[in-house]
Amino acid sequence: MTATPTTANATVGIDLGTTNSLVAYCDASGPRILPDALGRALVPSVVRFDAEGVVVGHAARDSAADHPATTISSVKRLMGRSLRDAESDLRYLPYSVVAGAGETARLSIPSLRGGPRVFSPQEVSAHILRALKEQASDALGIQVTRAVITVPAYFDDAQRQATKDAGRIAGLDVIRIVNEPTAAALAYGLGAGLSGEKFGERVIAVYDFGGGTFDISILRITPAQAEGETSFFEVLATSGDTHLGGDDADHELMRRLLGSDPEALPLADRRTLKREAEALKFRLTESELANADFTLVGRHVTAEVSRAEYEDLIAPFVKRTLELCSLALSDAARTLRRPNPPPIERVIMVGGMTRTPLVRRAVGDFFQLDPYIAVDPDQVVALGAAVQASILSGQTKGALLLDVIPLSLGIETVGGAVAKLIVRNSTVPAKASEFFSTSVDGQTSIRLSVFQGEREMAADCRRLGEFHLRGIPPMPAGIPQLEVQFLVDSSGVLNVSAHERRSGKRAALQVIPNHGLTREEVDRMERESYAHAREDMNRHRVVDLIANSKLDLKWIGDRFERFKHILEAENRVDLQARMETLQEFVRRAETDWDSVDPNEFHRAKEELDRASVRLQEVGIAMSLKESQPKV
Ligand code: ADP
Ligand code: MG
Repeated sequence: MTATPTTANATVGIDLGTTNSLVAYCDASGPRILPDALGRALVPSVVRFDAEGVVVGHAARDSAADHPATTISSVKRLMGRSLRDAESDLRYLPYSVVAGAGETARLSIPSLRGGPRVFSPQEVSAHILRALKEQASDALGIQVTRAVITVPAYFDDAQRQATKDAGRIAGLDVIRIVNEPTAAALAYGLGAGLSGEKFGERVIAVYDFGGGTFDISILRITPAQAEGETSFFEVLATSGDTHLGGDDADHELMRRLLGSDPEALPLADRRTLKREAEALKFRLTESELANADFTLVGRHVTAEVSRAEYEDLIAPFVKRTLELCSLALSDAARTLRRPNPPPIERVIMVGGMTRTPLVRRAVGDFFQLDPYIAVDPDQVVALGAAVQASILSGQTKGALLLDVIPLSLGIETVGGAVAKLIVRNSTVPAKASEFFSTSVDGQTSIRLSVFQGEREMAADCRRLGEFHLRGIPPMPAGIPQLEVQFLVDSSGVLNVSAHERRSGKRAALQVIPNHGLTREEVDRMERESYAHAREDMNRHRVVDLIANSKLDLKWIGDRFERFKHILEAENRVDLQARMETLQEFVRRAETDWDSVDPNEFHRAKEELDRASVRLQEVGIAMSLKESQPKV
């Protein structure tokens, strides 16, 4: 038996992964994964759109080879990104990606009812989140509506916002977005006052090698020294690559197995090949030698791969992760204003790829430490998110979390340079303001472009959005004083505001996200999801009503035939009419469930039930009489 939470407003932690997603909950007994009805912890981040509806998770992944065109995987790679951002991924995404409003990446899949259907990555992710929400609700026995969701440390503002929007579409109140490595550190109870272990300030590394992304984070933890004190989790530096993961290992094995470029294969074959390559990879984690033996359309593939050969194939990826580790270490030194990187006391291993023996060896050698693997590398992020959720909802005391901003944020100035307002690795929440002015006499409006990145010129940075400040009174160039304020909230989401000081006038302005959904779109999707929820509920009711009415009609009908001669004429006519009415509802509902009003259907059933009371009495009396022993 799982314990039911005391609060009706349980907040869960969600690891919304590129490959796999999980949901966890933390109560007084500590964090635990909330599995599905079959006890499975991982929900593959795979969604299929069928004529009959949406299939999510294991079912979608396991039958992906049969539905290559309508199955969506790795959607996280497209979250909050433009079509151009996603370009390098396109060759490995076996569905078509098109440009939506504002150049956003959207997914286009064929539909049975003609014309392709286009979805935003947020909508697809929302299906995964909804499945997790339901799984959690079933496991806890209450309706879960609040969540902490994790994202890779390198996610920019648009990607974080997109994740929040996906939560909203799924009917979740996303109370915090947390970096995955930070959650992993929390799962180990480091400094959160959960472990009971006493230690001073320490610096740790979180090495996360997942299916689609690699992240390395250097955290400084200052644990609470006494009851009721606050522990500090501070991210000193983050580095990573959003295009480096277990998928790359799979692709190497795919090429090895095929002996040629997998791109030339039809979709279904590519999926099969990918599945077989991954299975081979798993076997190579366990043994020194592994075989593959499977059939593609019109072609049989057999191969024997040694671990040594496999390690050669993936060595460049592992090497790259270590280069990124070096980068993060020197960033951490800079943050601490020290000449050398701080000594690392722990390396926490996160992500399925860290099961690979080569990865463990390489990381151990690099940091000169035995990697930390006590908590399942698949589950550690979700468990930490649950710990964070419980801290935020006041169930776990004594921990405060400080994250850093991964990339600098600034405004484009005349000439195309970027004035950085908030620099990389500042802790959140962060606030900064700067004064700007006009460059032309009598200028009454200014356009401000917001950029993210480390380079000096706007052209080399990523443009997050732009806004216009209008209604400035005409003044000579350089006289208006425009104060621009950047505020990065604790979820890492950027809010920009501005006002002109001389005129005292605050013009309304809005940052139009370049690669996110507009507010209107999110509102619409949220409304639609409610509408769908209502529709689903109605359908459910009608289906139940059909089944129950049929039982009633049969039961009452049988007795009516047997005993109608005993009933009073009035009751007989009444009963007959009501049976016909309900029969008609059943007939209509079976043809088209949407054509009947579930309330009227329900009323018709109740009226028949009520009218049949007399028949039931007669029936009972008669059967009693029949069962009397004859003397
Ligand atoms: P993400 O965080 O990107 O969703 P995960 O942490 O779930 O990813 O890691 C998924 C990756 O880990 C996949 O590429 C998967 O093949 C790989 N993986 C899982 N288990 C193993 C294993 N035993 N050996 C090697 N790779 C594994
Ligand atoms: Mg992950």
